[in-house]
Parts: sequence; C-alpha cells; structure tokens
Amino acid sequence: MAGQRARELRAMGRDILGLTAGEPDFETPGHIKEAAIRAMTDGQTRYTDVGGTPVLKEAIAGKFLNENGLAYTPGEIIVGTGAKQVIFNALMCTVAAGDEVIVPAPYWVSYPDIALLAGGVPVFVDCPAASGFKLQPADLERAITGKTRWLMLNSPNNPSGATYTRAELQALAEVLRRHPHVWVLTDDIYEHLIYGDIEFATMAQVAPDLKDRTLTVNGVSKAYAMTGWRIGYGAGPSALIKAMVKLQSQSTSGPNSIAQAAAVAALTGPQDTIASNRREYEKRRDMVVASLNAIDGIHCAAPDGAFYIFASCSALFGLRTRTGVAIESSDDWVMHLLDSQDLAALQGSAYGVPTHFRISFAASTEQLLEGCRRIARARDELS
Ligand code: PLP
Repeated sequence: MAGQRARELRAMGRDILGLTAGEPDFETPGHIKEAAIRAMTDGQTRYTDVGGTPVLKEAIAGKFLNENGLAYTPGEIIVGTGAKQVIFNALMCTVAAGDEVIVPAPYWVSYPDIALLAGGVPVFVDCPAASGFKLQPADLERAITGKTRWLMLNSPNNPSGATYTRAELQALAEVLRRHPHVWVLTDDIYEHLIYGDIEFATMAQVAPDLKDRTLTVNGVSKAYAMTGWRIGYGAGPSALIKAMVKLQSQSTSGPNSIAQAAAVAALTGPQDTIASNRREYEKRRDMVVASLNAIDGIHCAAPDGAFYIFASCSALFGLRTRTGVAIESSDDWVMHLLDSQDLAALQGSAYGVPTHFRISFAASTEQLLEGCRRIARARDELS
C-alpha cells in the first residue's frame, strides 16, 4: 500500500526518501565480481547440476563446518536462486493441504504467503516487544497441533532484529523434542549482521539431535552484498534435499552458473568486508535508535542483528494530522510519513505487528539523518 503510493509519488516527480531497502547499500566486493568475470571467460556458461555445482556445495559444506560446527555432505545441500527459492522448495515439497506452519510474528513477509501457496495454513504466534520479539517456549508448545509441519525460525529476524541466544534455542528445542512430527526451518540469512557481543547460533548446532528434522537456510545476499546475484542455499536431511532438487529441476533448472562461481569466491575468499560492513551498520543503528527515541511517541530498542529498526508508533494512535486525518494504525502513520514528508517506511502490519513500523538502516548516514528529521517533523504535525 505505502509502497504503491511511494511509486506513484515518485512518478509525479516527488523526491521520495526511501528507507525501505531489504538489501545492503554496499557494493559486492571486487574479488567476487572478478570471479564472475573469470567464470564467463572460462566458459562456465552452461546448465549446472540442478542442486548446485560440486565446487559451490563443497564451499558451503566448508562454511557450515567452519562457522557453525555443522557437518553436511554434498547430498545434504541444495543451492537455489536465493534463500527464497530454497524456502519455497522446502514448503512446496512437504506441506500438504491443511498442514500448519508456525510463523512467529513479527515475520518476514514471504513465510505466510509461501505456506499458503503450498496449501498450508500459517499459524501466527505473537512475539511481543516485551519478550524481545522472540518466540517463547510456552507459546510454541501451545501453537503445536497434530497438523503442525514446520516451525519457521528467523534469527537475526527481519523486521525486528531479534537474535536468539544458544540458551533460547535450547529452550525451544526442548519443546520440539516432545513433538517429533514438527520440523524446523531456520532462516539464517542475517547470520553475519550481528552487533555487540552476541554470538550467532543455529538450531542444528545447539540441538544436534534435531538435525535430522532441521533445514538450515542461508545465502550470500546479505553477508556479501549480493542480493542481485540470487544465490541461497539450504542443508538438511538428504531425502528432503532430494525432493527439493526434483522440484527445482522443473522450475528453474538450477541457479545461474556465473553467480554460483561468484558465490564460491564469496564463501572461500577474503571475509574482511563482513566485519567492516558490520561496524558501519552498527554505527548507523546506534545513530538511528538515538534519533528515533528522541521523538515523542516513537520507541525502539537497538536491534541485535539485521539492518532494520522496528519501532513502535502506537503512542501516536488517536492523534490527527493537520488535515484532520486520524492516525489509528501503523499503516496510517506510514502513509502520513509519505504524504507529509516524502519519506517511505514500511508498515508493521506487513510483518504481523500493526503497532510498529520498519525502517532500514542499509542507507547512507546522510539519508538516515534526513529520514529521522522527517519523522520528527511528521510527528510535530500531529496533535
Ligand atoms: N529471508 C529473510 C528473512 C529475508 O529478509 C530475505 C530478504 O529480504 C530473504 C530470506 C531472501 O534472501 P535471498 O535474497 O537469498 O532470496
């Protein structure tokens, strides 16, 4: 809704400042681009194995082993056209009509829609700000039924940045042990975007006994600023991976050969941009959090991971714009930001939380400072 309005306003010539990006504003590192050019000139321009090239699978296995302490064989790995395709494949292969998919809210917008496309029923579990937007074991227990197929876990989370500790994952694993029919899909795409001293953990690593019903999803989009290259991957039990490869063979015939060569360079080459980008994101995060919390009626905690601020605007509900429009939801607030200040943000209702709105700090410091100024001005217009 706000996205459509932003496009309309831009088409009318308005200079809309967009803080909606779900992708790094950094360039893909040079050595990765060079690997792609080399792949082209070397003739790596043909169909590859549907589930990914052997060399990329080897690089992914190395990544899982070195970074996560997880041992996967090539037969337990699939490469897809982005993590999104991997998630799509998994649900399409496993969800039968009426099966339930537990989606903790706030959630990445695609989970419920993919579950619905697969014929499943998304079961939303509220994870309020008071519990750090994290799924609580008792709430998970309550949500599980005989029809539950999957639990979708995303840490660090889009949009809240919530990042589960080892102990928190252990507590969820404890619940899952009582329900052997429930599988876990962990979407770890923001693994390398974690701030402060928090250490990344993933379910198959902290609960090895659940590894045979866990699909660990990751990719190069966010860590290496490679969203347009469209390479994601998943690792899990070989029977599941085999079914996913079969589905992929009749949809995309496997990922792009050149992008796969680039992904090998990303995973096996120098890793220094991960740390330097993270330091830059962390500075921006602190600046935006401070600026937003200085605005009367806006509240946010500093997210532990990803590059989004998920801020509460519910204290503004009931106020009116100068033209008399009442702000009753984050949709109204986001529309007011757009109409009065030419600022595009995203409404929390898209993520299952209508009291909040999301802004991305994958933008320059100048853009972020200007964005915060516009948010403050939009607030001042309400009474
Ligand atoms: N998972 C989450 C939580 C995301 O936010 C995104 C992209 O915004 C993706 C997956 C998609 O990643 P990819 O570009 O690898 O398809």
